[in-house]
Amino acid sequence: MIRFENVTKIYKGDFPALEDINLEFKEGEFVSIVGQSGAGKSTLLKLIYAEEKPTSGTVFFDEKPLDSISGRKLPSHRREIGMVFQDFKLLPRKTAFENVAYALEVAGASNDEISENVSQILDIVGLGDKVEKYPNQLSGGEQQRVALARALIHRPRIIIADEPTGNLDPVSSWEIIQLIMKINELGTTVLLASHDKYVIDKLNRRVIVLDGGKIIGDYPKGKYKLV
Ligand code: ADP
Repeated sequence: MIRFENVTKIYKGDFPALEDINLEFKEGEFVSIVGQSGAGKSTLLKLIYAEEKPTSGTVFFDEKPLDSISGRKLPSHRREIGMVFQDFKLLPRKTAFENVAYALEVAGASNDEISENVSQILDIVGLGDKVEKYPNQLSGGEQQRVALARALIHRPRIIIADEPTGNLDPVSSWEIIQLIMKINELGTTVLLASHDKYVIDKLNRRVIVLDGGKIIGDYPKGKYKLV
């Protein structure tokens, strides 16, 4: 589904953020990407979202090189991907319902479509009773559930979660991870960047270890051991 071929990314004259990456993600996989801050995790995810371009090499999506996706086709590429971040990125003056609905409004959905889909997705993430709450009336874990609902609203094929538990306590973290696992079991590919070793260990899925922009380990399910 996604393939990196000799991908190097250098931000303006700096040392490489990613260096000669060769990597494949298959449809349906749940892959954790671990590594210290600055290892290149976010850069790798941004290349998939086509938010950044490789300095050299190619990222393929469904065997099509991403650099051939023109500006006009970029929104449809991005609708295949739901993004979730450490800081939730919710709109503070909109309710949970409105935060999720907004993504559909922008895409031109009708009011009927919006009310049906948004309620359904908020139910799936367990927030059916909090749809009218504003972000500051919700716990961190609940805010991340809203962010996940928003990421899911276009029924993406991939969820990219960049440190989704970075601002959460251990209990909420594990609840969010379990929810992401459930979404994966329903068929969505998941790429999770995290430096939460507890979460990665408990997940027991494929783990890619990045260090200084290079892959220093790629462990199949069950083979990653905490050091
Ligand atoms: P991680 O997500 O593992 O913390 P990043 O991909 O964010 O790592 O960063 C990898 C390297 O690239 C770091 O050295 C970082 O400072 C650098 N970097 C990331 N984004 C930019 C940017 N927009 N401009 C310049 N340097 C950047």
